[in-house]
Amino acid sequence: YLDKDACAGCGVKLQNESVDKPGYIPQAALAKEPAICQRCFRIKNYNEASSVAVDQDDFLKLLSGIANTQSLVVHIVDLFDFEGSLISGLQRFVGNNPVLLVVNKIDLLPKGINPNRVLNWVQKQTKAQGLKVVDIVLCSAKRNIGFDRVIESIGIHRGKRDVYVVGATNVGKSTLINRLIHDYSDLDRELTTSRYPGTTLDAIHIPLDDGNEIIDTPGIVYAHRMTEIVPRGVLGALLPDKPIKQLVYQLNAGQTLFVGALARFDFIEGERQSFTLYMSNALQVHRTKLERADELFENHKGEMLAPPSKEQLADMPPWTRHRMTIRRNTDTDVFISGLGWIHVNGSSGALIDVFAPKGIRVLQRDALI
Ligand code: GDP
Repeated sequence: YLDKDACAGCGVKLQNESVDKPGYIPQAALAKEPAICQRCFRIKNYNEASSVAVDQDDFLKLLSGIANTQSLVVHIVDLFDFEGSLISGLQRFVGNNPVLLVVNKIDLLPKGINPNRVLNWVQKQTKAQGLKVVDIVLCSAKRNIGFDRVIESIGIHRGKRDVYVVGATNVGKSTLINRLIHDYSDLDRELTTSRYPGTTLDAIHIPLDDGNEIIDTPGIVYAHRMTEIVPRGVLGALLPDKPIKQLVYQLNAGQTLFVGALARFDFIEGERQSFTLYMSNALQVHRTKLERADELFENHKGEMLAPPSKEQLADMPPWTRHRMTIRRNTDTDVFISGLGWIHVNGSSGALIDVFAPKGIRVLQRDALI
């Protein structure tokens, strides 16, 4: 029980149980006047946005609030988890407000990839998902690539509107907002966070130099992404930090690849062909014979086949199997949300089983690269 109810900054209900949930306030800060949540405190005092997360229901409530505003919605997605981080149904919830799609983490693309090809791919996929966007910008918030284009596009499309920044967790939303704060706000002037009038949306208003505001919303947690279900200690290995180095495997039918103990890929039927893995290079891949795979897993999971460690595995759901037929003469990715993908050069077709923790989104798509 807290005697002060709402954050004086953003209006969210205060709580002091979970650090990474909206409204967190340390016990000591409760005595201060005005009482503001840790997220507002950090923006005010350090000019630094931090990530908080909400579940889908709370997020949808917030989203439908946006429909009643005149806003530009900036939707950030992670290029390395495109299908996992795209907010499905966004169109329905934001009403007639324009959506700008910012595709982050392009620094992770292997060297020598043509960005225009990637842009075309994103355009096609976005359209297929039924999302209408006014613009698509590829960027890297961390490496400061394409950022001018993000600012430029926001400038062109916002008119006199507020700018809502929305995204799933771990897509780089805070990193991007921090860049906006550092590049476009006057650090001498005190930043004020202000409550959204008449509501208690947990959305933080951050004024920029030119009198405009950007509004940071909590990240939405999707349980279909590997990054959201792994124990904390495994996240670092999943999120790549440097450009991905593709791993190419020439496999015969009857061979298996283990990605740590996170996923398993069986090549069941088809001519000998190459499979290219696009995943964090911090992960270990083991090749074995399909007929030995079950035994290998039982004997070595959490040890040779890691991460996760034995202890961490106990906190993860068991695998489910996804059987896939890759058609002849297609250029296909087998996508595992939050982990990466395996490119199948399907000139001769293939039958494949993918094992991944229950609930993780696994699908076939047109090849990104
Ligand atoms: P949020 O949860 O969406 O606010 O995401 P954060 O900004 O906290 O970033 C999540 C993770 O992605 C962190 O490990 C960041 O370092 C990393 N990250 C953010 N932007 C980029 C980027 O442009 N490239 C790469 N490689 N990593 C990024």
